[in-house]
Amino acid sequence: MTDGLGNAGDLLARLAANLASGGVEIVDLTHTLTPEFPVIVLPAEFGQCQPFRMEEVSRYDARGPGWYWNTITVSEHAGTHFDAPAHWISGRNLPNATVDALDPQTLVAPAVVLDFSAESAADEDFLLTRAHVEAWEAEHGAIPPRSWVLLRTDWSRHVGTPRYLNLREDGAHSPGPDADAVRFLVEERNILGFGTETVGTDAGQGGHLDPPYPAHFILHGAGRCGLQCLANLDRLPPRGALVFAAPLKIRHGSGSPLRGLALVPGGS
Ligand code: MN
Repeated sequence: MTDGLGNAGDLLARLAANLASGGVEIVDLTHTLTPEFPVIVLPAEFGQCQPFRMEEVSRYDARGPGWYWNTITVSEHAGTHFDAPAHWISGRNLPNATVDALDPQTLVAPAVVLDFSAESAADEDFLLTRAHVEAWEAEHGAIPPRSWVLLRTDWSRHVGTPRYLNLREDGAHSPGPDADAVRFLVEERNILGFGTETVGTDAGQGGHLDPPYPAHFILHGAGRCGLQCLANLDRLPPRGALVFAAPLKIRHGSGSPLRGLALVPGGS
């Protein structure tokens, strides 16, 4: 098959050769899943997501002399993870909105990385606005349709410290997008989804925005997806990465931990 960019079979052969030579590098976008990895904390009146658990079944011992394995218990929204449209009430009646029903053709997609790490360091409640996105596009070009938009805040460096969730009496304080920015990305850029380094796609104080939790509400209501707790966004170029983000195929699942990977030009 050809697509105007050359023969697709040749393209895959060249990709394989470049992966072997380092001409294309793979960046791991994933944090290690541990019982200590922070999970989102909701107000006390709501059900809470449980941390990751791992119970050893056997480890080359009397329980299984030749093999090692564990039973894991994991929230759909623990660690580096994927949010499907059905995660939010705005997406609940959409077709193919759960992780088992997603079109695999959408699980590999280009990504752009919007670096607002300096702004997020200066303001823990930094909100990405449409003006910020347009300023990024003026420098880097328009966001291609069906792309992941990844917000770099360097928040992943806070994993393992209280600063990551940054919980205070009035809730969490961490950066995220405002409603206009998300609406612009969905309606005028037709993005596949939005990804963050923080524990949710919304800002820590996103419950006070209109609509509350605008990234969840607008993205999922439009059948778009979310990625959270991403790592190593500082190793991605502003554009040109190809992201593999495939959730587990959980029947009727609202999300799933995943091993997120990005293909980038070598030496970048
Ligand atoms: Mn989630």
